Amino acid sequence: MPLSEFALIERYFRDLGARRDTRIGVGDDGAVLAVPPGQEVVAVVDTLVEGVHFPAGTAARSIGHRALAVNLSDLAAMGATPAWALLALTLPRADEAWLAEFTAGFAALARAHDVQLVGGDTTAGPLTITVQALGLLPRGTALLRGGGQAGDLVFVTGTPGDAAGGLALLQERMRARPDAAANSLDALRDRFLFPTPRCATGARLRGVASACIDISDGLAGDLAKLAAASGCGARVDVTQLPLSAALLAVAGRAAAEHFALTGGDDYELCFTVPAQAPLPDGLACTAIGQLVEGRGLTVCRGGSVIDFSHSGFDHFAN
Ligand SMILES: [Mg+2]
Repeated sequence: MPLSEFALIERYFRDLGARRDTRIGVGDDGAVLAVPPGQEVVAVVDTLVEGVHFPAGTAARSIGHRALAVNLSDLAAMGATPAWALLALTLPRADEAWLAEFTAGFAALARAHDVQLVGGDTTAGPLTITVQALGLLPRGTALLRGGGQAGDLVFVTGTPGDAAGGLALLQERMRARPDAAANSLDALRDRFLFPTPRCATGARLRGVASACIDISDGLAGDLAKLAAASGCGARVDVTQLPLSAALLAVAGRAAAEHFALTGGDDYELCFTVPAQAPLPDGLACTAIGQLVEGRGLTVCRGGSVIDFSHSGFDHFAN
């Protein structure tokens, strides 16, 4: 079966919930999308390469989920509500069973967020997935990295470090503590394989957060980027990190702290809020520090500064 045509993907996505604001979707030379009055479009794109962003042999359902999830996470970080996606898929061969699983993973997440696939392309080559996602928000309400000010409190959603712990297990770079329960190991692997983009939280942060970023390369590195964009430094207290029971059970506290600060792939949100401003009720997040005058990231334990060399994940290092 020739993969130069989009027909196979189109077949799998045909029943993927149509949006009323899609004038023309898959099937023409381009999609035609109606932006509602008073709204703006936020556009993001991300590429996943086998062996770089996920281990070779990762289940196709997870790859399909993650390819969309990493983009929805970027939309969430901007405060945008996801609307449309485009998919460029490079495959070593036309494997229908693989494609069925891939599209099932992609489609389940797309349906959950009312995202319509409106275009795409397939090519033969090493396994590489590029997704572009488009989201909507009221004009002028996008969350930016650069809006923070010294004194703002720093929050994080979820329990960072879990995905990095899960990846370390999948790659057998970490041996679980002997008393760790099997379901703790499963929970961590799941956080890597099926991350949850925090779209509802991102939308609720419009008009609340002064700055926001998603954690794709590690909390420390991504918070440092937010602080730099905001023209200040940041201070984080490791004793306030929301570590999951599963990560503590599998990795122990020291490794859990390290995963939480430096591990990537969490796709949680890190955001700042002016110290006196109230947070919306029921927002699932944890205060972990503060923006400060100066530059760079300072890591503390209780009151004392600890030595911590952070780099996050840099694709072009070494
Ligand atoms: Mg991002």
